[in-house]
Amino acid sequence: MSKILYISSEAFPLIKTGGLADVAGSLPIALSEQGEAVRLLLPAYPQVMQQVENSQQLAKGNYYGFEVTLLETHLPNSEVPAWLVNCPAAFDRPGGPYVDNDGQPWHDNALRFALFCQIAVDIALDKLNLGWQPDIVHCNDWQSGLVPALLQPFKERPATLFTIHNLAYQGLFSHQTFSDLGLSTDLWHPDRLEFYGQLSFIKGGLVYADRINAVSPTYAKEILRPEFGNGVDGLLQHRQKRLSGILNGIDQTIWNPATDPHLAANYSACKLAPKCKNKTALQKQLGLPVDAKIPLLGMISRMVEQKGLDIILDAMAEIVKLPMQLVILGSGERHYEMQLVKWANNHPDKLNVVIGYNETLSHQIEAASDLFLMPSAFEPCGLNQLYSLRYGTLPIVSNVGGLADTIVDANDLNRQNKMANGFIVTEQSAHALLTTLRHALALYQEPAAWEKLQLTAMKGDFSWKRSAEHYIKLYQLALADRDQTVA
Ligand code: ADP
Repeated sequence: MSKILYISSEAFPLIKTGGLADVAGSLPIALSEQGEAVRLLLPAYPQVMQQVENSQQLAKGNYYGFEVTLLETHLPNSEVPAWLVNCPAAFDRPGGPYVDNDGQPWHDNALRFALFCQIAVDIALDKLNLGWQPDIVHCNDWQSGLVPALLQPFKERPATLFTIHNLAYQGLFSHQTFSDLGLSTDLWHPDRLEFYGQLSFIKGGLVYADRINAVSPTYAKEILRPEFGNGVDGLLQHRQKRLSGILNGIDQTIWNPATDPHLAANYSACKLAPKCKNKTALQKQLGLPVDAKIPLLGMISRMVEQKGLDIILDAMAEIVKLPMQLVILGSGERHYEMQLVKWANNHPDKLNVVIGYNETLSHQIEAASDLFLMPSAFEPCGLNQLYSLRYGTLPIVSNVGGLADTIVDANDLNRQNKMANGFIVTEQSAHALLTTLRHALALYQEPAAWEKLQLTAMKGDFSWKRSAEHYIKLYQLALADRDQTVA
């Protein structure tokens, strides 16, 4: 059994902006079910504090001139302790974890997450006298990137693992910010935290962690290439022996069509028929023509370039002519939101766009849809295609990252071999997307063939147990590497 400090800037259901929250809300539980002693470290945002009924103060200190208390609670529905970094000056404010209500990054993000990292380091070195020192510190994305760099000088430090959930977000700040944070001047070097004249939080993880992993095997290879490497592909090549990929799992209790309380009708692989009641219920709810037979395509996404919105918009004039309906839920960059809403206003019988974040509706769309649209330009792992598989909703995806690792195209050979579970768009273009869509719509007209694809999709095993086992092996490798480094 190892003691693991799992550091994340979000964790479902306490606070969520994307896939990282789903992972941080599930993996610690799966690890503790395997016998590991895990503590989750999370900022005490107001959304988190509202859900916490009882918390105990474990320690207090002063960081960057702010009073900080460390509170203990539990990850809901589990025994996993969640340690909350309670610093009202940094975290108690309206808006999201990273951006304000207008979608602008908080001006003091560097300070907020440097403070978060500093307290993590003090826990890791048992400087807060908690009587609990982790063997492993597991960092996730740039918000915890400084931790491996700050721990590096200490002989008695735990081993460090840095997980890349999305390399496109690196936590880049000015040289002035680097100075203001009081980081050791040694760290200002292109081989360390400097990135072309800027401070890079993520480099703290990429340069210094004993082990690095990405959230799918294919993404772990893609980021070694300039097209996907976001300027750090050279560094990752240098650290290639320490880099691997572990596919995310999904929470099969929350995402279970047989028991999902958000659905109009529950269903399973053994009893698929009620699935279409979800379609008609959603059509009614959103004001689309109610027709159980028309194929329904769903999409739930952050509205950012990564998610393939440009090719969807390029293809939209043709999409609205196809014999199907499209429902999109998401929020993000205003220009995407506005263009999609305009298409929906002009084609209310074909397209419905809901701008916003809505957990209930996301479950309803997964259950109601026949097909799920996810033509991402890059995708570190992707969770929605996994939820779709579980809901018998066939994903239409691009051939990248975790999408390539989880979706098997419904071509003749894969169908004969009973492997097919979705549709792959062969290149990032409107033309390729439309070709794949037409193929999917043609197959939809063959109910027996379609049902076979659905059953293959629903049988896939994407449980966290499997991923947790891989992480436990990786922790052992990180410990061995740490021993070599500090020896
Ligand atoms: P990413 O982390 O890049 O946003 P993922 O597919 O890994 O993409 O995870 C996204 C998660 O966020 C999924 O659980 C998805 O259902 C959820 N999600 C994204 N946008 C919305 C939204 N507008 N409403 C509800 N859930 C959303």
